[in-house]
Amino acid sequence: MKRSKSEVSTIALLHTEEKQEIALRVLLERNHCNKEHFFNTLYNTVLLFMLQQICTAMKKDIAVRNWVKHKYFSQPDNIRTTQEIVLQLCGVQLSEAEATTMNQWIQAHLEKKPYRKPISEKEKQTLLLRQSGRCACCGKEITIHDHYDHIIPWDLVGDELPDNVQMLCASCNQEKNSKVYFTLQRLVVAPLPLNFAG
Ligand SMILES: [Zn+2]
Repeated sequence: MKRSKSEVSTIALLHTEEKQEIALRVLLERNHCNKEHFFNTLYNTVLLFMLQQICTAMKKDIAVRNWVKHKYFSQPDNIRTTQEIVLQLCGVQLSEAEATTMNQWIQAHLEKKPYRKPISEKEKQTLLLRQSGRCACCGKEITIHDHYDHIIPWDLVGDELPDNVQMLCASCNQEKNSKVYFTLQRLVVAPLPLNFAG
């Protein structure tokens, strides 16, 4: 049976995608990267990209922010409303479970205060204890004089989410800044060595 040109190129593309998926799995295996952890982090990062896009759209244009607020006000079914907002602003269809998470994040953004909530030494101690006295990212030993960080950047969700804080060493915190892809990046590539001598 003769195949049309577009049919052939689609088959070739699928074949490449399949090969790439295998190549990625082999790459992860070769570098002892836990596949389940990798795909969970990738999935979370994809959702965070959508949140960032929605927050940026609301920040850039007050009409968009008002439209989002009006949607939630006029349609109290937050899950369906969130699905509609994400479809409009990101062009992505979310499942109910995904929209439930995204709804919490968008609500946090809408309720975000213009200032950061101060953290007490006691709260830092509790976090440090939970992290066995180590940076949540690189595992280096740290103290309460090191950095306090919002896992989902403060710019996006403020202090409105529970369990969204961790302690980091100064260099990880500086590198993370407000990058939503930081956890994924760190999972794949280690930071450059400080010294190339020799
Ligand atoms: Zn660190």
